[in-house]
Amino acid sequence: MLKKIDHVGIAVPNIEEALKFWTTGMQTTVAHAEEVAAQKVKVAFLPVGETNIELLEPTDPTGAVGQALQKRGPGIHHICFEVEDIRAALAHLKAQGMTLINQEPVPGAHNKLVAFVHPKSSGGILIELSQPK
Ligand code: ZN
Repeated sequence: MLKKIDHVGIAVPNIEEALKFWTTGMQTTVAHAEEVAAQKVKVAFLPVGETNIELLEPTDPTGAVGQALQKRGPGIHHICFEVEDIRAALAHLKAQGMTLINQEPVPGAHNKLVAFVHPKSSGGILIELSQPK
C-alpha cells in the first residue's frame, strides 16, 4: 500500500526563520513553496534524496497546524506516505477499524490528493497519505 515516505512535516512559527537552519545549516534548498488554503498553511518543500522536509507555517491560528503549534510548540507534525490509490488505502484502513480524519481525499500541496489518519489509531503519530496526480 505504501510506496515511500513522501515527506516529514515540521510545524514552524515562521518559514523564513526556519530556513536559516535548513538552508545555511543543513544545506538543503527550497524546491517548491505555496499556500495551501484548504489546510490554512504556507508550506516549503526541501528535497532530501527520495523524500522531503515540509516546513508548515500556519496562516490562521485556528487551523490544525496553528492549533498544534499553540499546544505543542514547533516540531514534527506528521509523516506523509505516498500511496498509489488513496481511496483504496482509506477504504482498507477504515475496514480495519482505523480512525480517519479525512474520510475522502482533500487537495494538498503540489495539487496532490491527501488524507490524514488520526493519531489515536497510529500510536500518537499524525499520518498523511498522498497520491500524486
Ligand atoms: Zn504534509
